[in-house]
Amino acid sequence: MDISTMYEDLGISPQVCRFGEDILTGLRDRFDEIDAAAEYNQAKVLAAMRKNRVNAQCFAQTTGYGYNDLGRDVLERVYADTFRTEAALVRPQITCGTHALAIALSANLRPGDELLSPVGAPYDTLEEVIGIRPSPCSLAEYGVTYRQADLKPDGSFDYDAIRAAINDRTRLITIQRSKGYATRPSFSPAQIGELIAFCKAVKPDVLCMVDNCYGEFVETAEPSEYGADMIVGSLIKNPGGGLAAVGGYICGTQSCVDRCAYRLSAPGLGQEVGANLGQLPSMFQGFFLAPTVVAGALKGAVFAANIYERLGFRCVPDAREARHDIIQAVELGSQERMLAFCLGIQAAAPVDSYVTPVPWAMPGYDAEVVMAAGAFVQGSSIELSADGPIREPYAVYFQGGLTWYHAKIGILMSLQKLVDAGLVTL
Ligand SMILES: *Cc1c(COP(=O)(O)O)cnc(C)c1O
Repeated sequence: MDISTMYEDLGISPQVCRFGEDILTGLRDRFDEIDAAAEYNQAKVLAAMRKNRVNAQCFAQTTGYGYNDLGRDVLERVYADTFRTEAALVRPQITCGTHALAIALSANLRPGDELLSPVGAPYDTLEEVIGIRPSPCSLAEYGVTYRQADLKPDGSFDYDAIRAAINDRTRLITIQRSKGYATRPSFSPAQIGELIAFCKAVKPDVLCMVDNCYGEFVETAEPSEYGADMIVGSLIKNPGGGLAAVGGYICGTQSCVDRCAYRLSAPGLGQEVGANLGQLPSMFQGFFLAPTVVAGALKGAVFAANIYERLGFRCVPDAREARHDIIQAVELGSQERMLAFCLGIQAAAPVDSYVTPVPWAMPGYDAEVVMAAGAFVQGSSIELSADGPIREPYAVYFQGGLTWYHAKIGILMSLQKLVDAGLVTL
């Protein structure tokens, strides 16, 4: 059976298949660049694993206090060496990206300090962590104030506003690499480096933290190589490689990471406790696979942008732009198209493929949200997924795919659903 017959069995018509192949012929150079970055990052991860002498003992399960957990300590050295930092905290006890960020912030800010975001509003879930939306246990409740410098209308840093916002209480600067669900651009590690250099020139002792979610391994350097004191992320996104079942990481200077460890466990205990509960094999192997997995997700994002831009829809980033994270926004312009797109992504999922995504009210959103995902790990967004709030400009945020071929099939299925419903014409 040839591939187009296989695709027809999956419900993808020869016409949609041809449309995709036609787009792909123009993407060979882009894909070569993505592969080159993956190769570089693979070498980086492998070098860190060799240097730290990863062996079978590292995969042993520990329980209870988790004292002398060799594998846990080696994994943290592997992360630190890969991301070129002095220290790392990588734990299944860090429940998600928001938790990792909350630890990094609350560990390194004290009462009377001020937190500054020089890149506009932070990710939704951080609003309660910071206290922008009041919440018990927020930083605001503990006497940490917050200031924000918005980006300029063209998405660039507003250096005058940032200089004016830094004062003698400014202790920590939080920089979000990925646009998340906003419409601003995502930033490259080099751009973030310029911002950090500027902030440290204004105030040399200020700490700079980068929310690195969705950015790991997209380029050949991380923000930690550009002066960040901490980079923070989730293991059910890029660095878990799709295999890590849970976890988060904080990589950075020894003094920042020590404080994070004290905040995560308890003062005095720090990194000495925390049983691995059998999670280490998937955390090691997932990190090893992550450069390739991220490359697959990036190819999917570029493919989707090129398909939907050709069909006349605005894509962010656009079809030709350089990538700084794995998220692709497609402005579909109507609820019907969003639902058809998500139906296609869902139909292509290895888990729950028979389910129909329906819009639903979600905490923290002012509109109903539609989500398509059928993941091996609940909520994992390195696996193929799409979602978006049902409101202007009716944008779906598409990300992930554990393999390029799966991302490709998912995108073709989304297109097929739009074609079938008469919502686009090829
Ligand atoms: C995913 C994400 C987070 C954290 O989200 P969790 O769902 O808690 O893991 C924070 N910032 C950005 C930019 C993200 O993409």
